[in-house]
Amino acid sequence: MRRREWLNLGKGLLLTAAATSLGVAQQRGKKPIYVLAWSERTEPKEHYPEGHNGVIAAFLNKDPNIRAEAVSLNDPEQGLPPEKLQRCDVLIWWGHVRHGEVRDDIVERIVKRVKDEGMGFIALHSSHYAKPFQRLINSPGHLGGVGHGREEHIWVVAPNHPIAKGITHFTLPDEEYYAEPFQVAEPETVVFISTFGSGHWFRSGLTWSVGKGRVFYFRSGHETSPTMKDERVLKIIRNAVYWCARRSP
Ligand code: ZN
Repeated sequence: MRRREWLNLGKGLLLTAAATSLGVAQQRGKKPIYVLAWSERTEPKEHYPEGHNGVIAAFLNKDPNIRAEAVSLNDPEQGLPPEKLQRCDVLIWWGHVRHGEVRDDIVERIVKRVKDEGMGFIALHSSHYAKPFQRLINSPGHLGGVGHGREEHIWVVAPNHPIAKGITHFTLPDEEYYAEPFQVAEPETVVFISTFGSGHWFRSGLTWSVGKGRVFYFRSGHETSPTMKDERVLKIIRNAVYWCARRSP
């Protein structure tokens, strides 16, 4: 076979593989879960040139049952125009120092989508102070303390929960610590607890049902730690997407 023929054969195989994975999703008769990965984009460029939202969306898009899009506070309508938010099944949020810039009318729309229409909401790390998170769980989200935690041990304390599927105890080499008490509404399930090299501990994976919707908070994801590139962390987020969307992988 000539080189061109080989190339064509390769292309054909790739197309077949793509069609097969698309077919698997379609066979189940379900449309892909539409995810918006939102960030305020203050992650340092040297650590996350594509942002937490870009890393998360790229990982989720490897799953044929998920269609993820990275959006940010810098986009028109702060990344959440009404038609996009209306289509969204699960909204993933990472904010840190620009919480106050998020428009209240957009927060209201998010809360309505979750409570009345069942959209899922996943808050990551410093989003414990994000306006939509505070509104959804009706709590201030204050921490008992924050600082350099050294290593973070993540313990699975609800191993049968769908968000813990395929996850066992693991350690992140360098993270910020958050300390209890975490001022949030009583969670439905504590899925993960973290202990830190600094001696602190924190409930680091929490779920709530809010009206028709599901909310998950995950602690890890400091902007100067490599956490968001960790496959285990990304798998937890993917599991949470399925759980929030009331779907199984
Ligand atoms: Zn942080």
